[in-house]
Amino acid sequence: MQVEALALTGLGVVVWVFAIQHDAFEALVDYVESHEALEVDEVLTALVIIGLFGLIYSLSRLGELHAEITRRSTAERDVTWIANHDPLTRLPNRAGLNVLLDTMAGGVGRGGRIAYYSIDLDGFKRVNDLLGHQSGDEVLIAVADRLRAIFDPEVIFRLGGDEFVVIEKIRDLAEAAAKARRITNYLSRSYNLSSGVTAELGASVGLALDPDHVDHPKQGLLAADAAMYEAKRRGKGTVVVFEDAMKTSLEHRAALEIALRDALKRRAIVPNYQPLIDLKTGGLRGFEALARWTGVDGRQVPPVEFISLAEETGLIVELADQLLRRACRDAVKWPPHLRLAFNLSSAQFSDKLLGLRILRILAEEGLPPNRLEIEVTETAIVKDMAAAETVLADLNAAGIHVALDDFGTGYSSLSQLSRFKFDKIKIDRSFVASFQDDERQEKIVRAMLGLGQGLGIATTAVGIEKESQVRDLQALGCDFGQGYLFGKAMPSQEIAEFIRKSDGDSRVSDAYLKQDELSEAIESTRRGA
Ligand code: C2E
Ligand code: CA
Repeated sequence: MQVEALALTGLGVVVWVFAIQHDAFEALVDYVESHEALEVDEVLTALVIIGLFGLIYSLSRLGELHAEITRRSTAERDVTWIANHDPLTRLPNRAGLNVLLDTMAGGVGRGGRIAYYSIDLDGFKRVNDLLGHQSGDEVLIAVADRLRAIFDPEVIFRLGGDEFVVIEKIRDLAEAAAKARRITNYLSRSYNLSSGVTAELGASVGLALDPDHVDHPKQGLLAADAAMYEAKRRGKGTVVVFEDAMKTSLEHRAALEIALRDALKRRAIVPNYQPLIDLKTGGLRGFEALARWTGVDGRQVPPVEFISLAEETGLIVELADQLLRRACRDAVKWPPHLRLAFNLSSAQFSDKLLGLRILRILAEEGLPPNRLEIEVTETAIVKDMAAAETVLADLNAAGIHVALDDFGTGYSSLSQLSRFKFDKIKIDRSFVASFQDDERQEKIVRAMLGLGQGLGIATTAVGIEKESQVRDLQALGCDFGQGYLFGKAMPSQEIAEFIRKSDGDSRVSDAYLKQDELSEAIESTRRGA
C-alpha cells in the first residue's frame, strides 16, 4: 500500500516537472482560448474540482488507515503483554523471564556482574488456606509492590504461586546480599488485608551471581533456586548465597534436564497402568496411568524426580500431552466400562487452554470424556485457586471425572472441597499404611470416608498391600482400592492378560468378605466407632 502511494507520488512529480519544463500550462491556456467552442474550460474546471475532492477524500482515508495501523499494533502489543505478564501483580511472568534469559544467553545485557534472587514466601499457603484465596491475592499484590520499592519493576518476575525472581546488574556480592536482606525485611512486615485481618508472612531468598558462581544465565536461576531451597531448609526468613557445595546437585539436574529433553524427543517416557478395584465387588474398574522412564543407562528414573524437573523447566506440557495421548490410545482398547485415571501436575494449571488441550486429545484418540478421570492434588489447587477453578470447570462441563488425589496430605480445607466439584477422593497411602495400628490415623480415615459419604463423593484408598487392609477398609465403607496387593503399575502389553484374568473370576483378590460377613463387619465397626 505504502509502496503504491510512493510510486504514484513519484510519477506525479515527474509529470509535474515535465509540464513546467515544457510550459504545458501556457500551451493549455492558448488551446482553450483558440477553441472556445469546444467548452474545454468547463471540462477542466470540473476536473480540477473532482481532483480537489479526490485529494480531500484520500487524505481522510489516509487518516483512517493510520488509525487502523495504530489500533492493530496496540492490539498486538496487548497480546504480547498478556502472554508475558501476570495479570494479578502486573509483573512479567515465566514466559517474560524466558524471553529475557534467551536474549541474555545471546550475550545481550550481559557483561558486568548480574545478581539472581530467587524468592519464596514463607507461610503463604497458610494465608490462602485459612483466609481464602482473595486474601492470598491481596498478599501477592502487596508483595509485588514491596519488591517494586526495592527494584526496577521490569526486573521482577512472578513465576506462579508465591515464587518471585529478580535479575539485575549489581556492583558486587556485598551490595546484592544487602538487597537480599532488604527483601526479607520488607516482606516480613505485616500485611493489613481489606477484611481487617493482619497476615504475617516471611520470605526465603537464594542469591547467585554471574560470573562469580555460574557461567550461563539459565544456570544463574538454577543456582539461585538451589540456594533458596537451602534457605528454606535452614529455617525460614533467611538469605543464602550459592556455594560450590551446591554445585553437584546443580550439575546432576542439568544432566537430567538434557536426558529428559532427549527422552521426550524419543518418546521414551511411557505410561504404565495400575489397577483400580471396586472394593464392594472385587471387580476391576479401571487403571491409573503412571509415568515410567527407563534411562539410556537402564536406570528407572523415579517419577517424582522427573515430573518435578519437567514442571520446573516447562517441559511438563509436552510430557503430559505425550503421556495422555499414549494412555488414551491404550485405553480405547480396554472394555468400555474401564476408566483411565490420569494425573495432572500443578504446573499444568497455569495453562488456561489445558481443558481444551485434553478434549482435543480425547477426540483425536477416540476416548469418550466420561471414561477419563483426571487426578489433581490438593497442593496443585491451593497453589493457584483461580486457575484451578477455570480448568476444573472446563473438565466438569465436558463430562470428565475429577478426583482429589493425596487427600489429607496437603493444605486444603473443607471449604475448598465444597468449592470444587469432585467425583472422587483418594486417601493417601500414608493413612492406609498406618490406620490399622494407629488409632488417631484410623479416626482420620473414618472421618475422610464419612466426609465422602456425606458429600456423595466416591472414595479410593491408595497403597493397599495387605488383605486385612481390604477387609477393614471395606467395612469402613471405602468404595475403591488400589495397591500392590491388586497389582503394581504394568506396561500396556500386560493389560489385556490382566483384564482377561480378572474377568474370569470377577474378583482380583480373595480378600473380599462374603455378603453376610460384610454386614457383620460393618455392624461391629459401627459399634466400635
Ligand atoms: P500418586 O498419584 O499418588 O500415585 C500413586 C503412587 O503410589 C505411585 O507411585 C504408585 O506406584 C504408588 N503405589 C501404589 N500402590 C502402592 C502400594 O501398595 N505400595 C507402595 N509402596 N506404593 C504404591 P509412582 O508411580 O512412583 O508415582 C509417584 C508420583 O508421581 C505419583 O503419585 C504422581 O504424583 C506422580 N506421577 C506419576 N506419573 C505421573 C504422570 O503421568 N503425571 C503426573 N503429573 N504425575 C505423575
Ligand atoms: Ca494419582
